[in-house]
Amino acid sequence: MTLSHRITHLTGGGSDGWDVFYRARALVAADEAVTELTIGEHDIRTGPSILAAMDASARGGHTGYAMVPGTAALRDTVAARITERSGVPTTRDNVLITPGGQAALFAAHHATCDEGDRALYIDPYYATYPGTIRGVGAVPVPVQARAEHAFQPRAADLAAAAPGARSLLVNTPNNPTGVVYGRDTLEGIAGVCAEHDLWLISDEVYDSQVWEGAHLSPRALPGMAERTLVVGSMSKSHAMTGSRCGWIVGPEEAISHLINLATHTTYGVPGFIQDAARFALDQGADLEEEIAAPFRRRRALAQEVLAGQNAVRQVPSQGAMYLMLDIRATGMSGEAFAGALLDAHRIAVMPGESFGAAAAGHVRVAMTIDDDRFAAALATLCDFAATRAAA
Ligand code: PMP
Repeated sequence: MTLSHRITHLTGGGSDGWDVFYRARALVAADEAVTELTIGEHDIRTGPSILAAMDASARGGHTGYAMVPGTAALRDTVAARITERSGVPTTRDNVLITPGGQAALFAAHHATCDEGDRALYIDPYYATYPGTIRGVGAVPVPVQARAEHAFQPRAADLAAAAPGARSLLVNTPNNPTGVVYGRDTLEGIAGVCAEHDLWLISDEVYDSQVWEGAHLSPRALPGMAERTLVVGSMSKSHAMTGSRCGWIVGPEEAISHLINLATHTTYGVPGFIQDAARFALDQGADLEEEIAAPFRRRRALAQEVLAGQNAVRQVPSQGAMYLMLDIRATGMSGEAFAGALLDAHRIAVMPGESFGAAAAGHVRVAMTIDDDRFAAALATLCDFAATRAAA
């Protein structure tokens, strides 16, 4: 039987730089000791008080179908968080609760793009972006944010790709680069969206992980609330990756249609998960800072290890649980470097190429193991790079 073109071509095919990741996983499965710095998952689990709230809710009977748009209480809580942090008045009618940010990204593109429409996204990118766009029948169009521009996208590059496009997907704080978009960058993005009548899909799932400066939501820029869909999630901010709870915030009309989509796809998010999410959000920014603290600490450690290195340079980054390292001085591609590092030292990092052409010659390091092992692995990586650069 023939499957749809849409699903068989979802991932685009071809080599995607994920070989090192799968090789590392195979080594781990064969009981080899591998230092895995690949995936953006915390090294802590969801906290006991959040689990207690989940348990109490489930035992209290919140195990049936929940309200499809999300419980009124969680929608209000998310709206209040967004209002407080962005300054944009937001009510529950602007909020749809989704099963994680991933489902929100899919729904946002479904809501904004028709079959065959061009949907822009920034390269380097979070791995699922092009597949998410293909999944709704749209055509993914990468726009490079270049290493020489500190991976901040330029308005001129966006404007060149914008004619005829329907949407632009951006992510700040950024996975994989760790870069936080500055006001200038965001104003440039907003200008291009206004001029070319684009929807802006703003992935802000790392908004609680900012090490320098501040996160600015582009929805807060003049005229942008009416054309922006913000994607948020409990995954990173509250170490709730497995709970699958996120949201889309946008104009009321868009949200009302997105609720229809949810009725026909996910049928909502379990009530006990939503109650746990509300409990977690009610703990306020202190809890979010506590969960982000290990990454803040490890970034400081990394800066010590990387200071004075010639073969490895850290991309100036301000947020998220990753470091992007420029290893071009070794003369190797990110893929070759990551493969050789795994072979020689059983340290697994992601080749920049797996996040798009703009990150070639880089590797991404997830700061997701304990401080001592993290600093030691980074020191080994630097020594390895220095040897290769000298060879
Ligand atoms: N956006 C970005 C940039 C991510 O890195 C991730 C997860 N790694 C997601 C969205 C989706 O996260 P979740 O579905 O767990 O909310």
